[in-house]
Amino acid sequence: MKKKERALFVEKKLNELYPNPKAPLEHSNAFTLLIAVLLSAQTTDKRVNIVTKELFKLASNPEKMLKLGEKKVYEHIKTCGLAPKKAKAIIETSKILLKKYNGKVPKKLALLEDLPGVGHKTASVVVSEYFNLPAFAVDTHIHRLAQRWGLSNGKSVKQTEKDLKELFDETNWRNLHLQIIFYGRAFCTARGCDGTVCFMCKSLYPNRKNKIKTFKA
Ligand code: SF4
Repeated sequence: MKKKERALFVEKKLNELYPNPKAPLEHSNAFTLLIAVLLSAQTTDKRVNIVTKELFKLASNPEKMLKLGEKKVYEHIKTCGLAPKKAKAIIETSKILLKKYNGKVPKKLALLEDLPGVGHKTASVVVSEYFNLPAFAVDTHIHRLAQRWGLSNGKSVKQTEKDLKELFDETNWRNLHLQIIFYGRAFCTARGCDGTVCFMCKSLYPNRKNKIKTFKA
């Protein structure tokens, strides 16, 4: 199969497996989604949903978050990885949103990326999930699978994002982001495989004999 054929095959299979992928992080508005994605770095979605359940009851907008203060935010999120850093970033981000954007979350990727604790991936998730604008958020799962499926050479996350954007129509980026993550979690874990076991690689590379090496993000 050629690269484009592999991409179409992957897309078709993922649509069969996950026809309507739902964002796993609970949120009620752009702000709560932004905070939930920020919290999800080095933390499971399940854990994030547990801590945000109470946190968002108290603070579902920047004003309330700021009133809550860094200490209390930390108390709520302390079971997440990097909690002290995240608590600080949540407060700083809330301040900036109030000061510069009238309490609203900006739609522009570049403006979101400038917020404390919000990198390119987090900004891309918010832009595509909440504002329905074309962005392809690539995390370590997607970076790994794109290599195993021969959709990117794995040089860097940046390169993977570029390759995937070229291969897939932008209207499908949001779904593919979730579908690849779901597939990765279910079948294709970080150390779990060398690229010769399950139906996806077997179909894409029927003659693959040797273990494939993947580059980390
Ligand atoms: S064969 Fe292995 S690397 Fe390929 S998709 Fe399946 S689990 Fe992932």
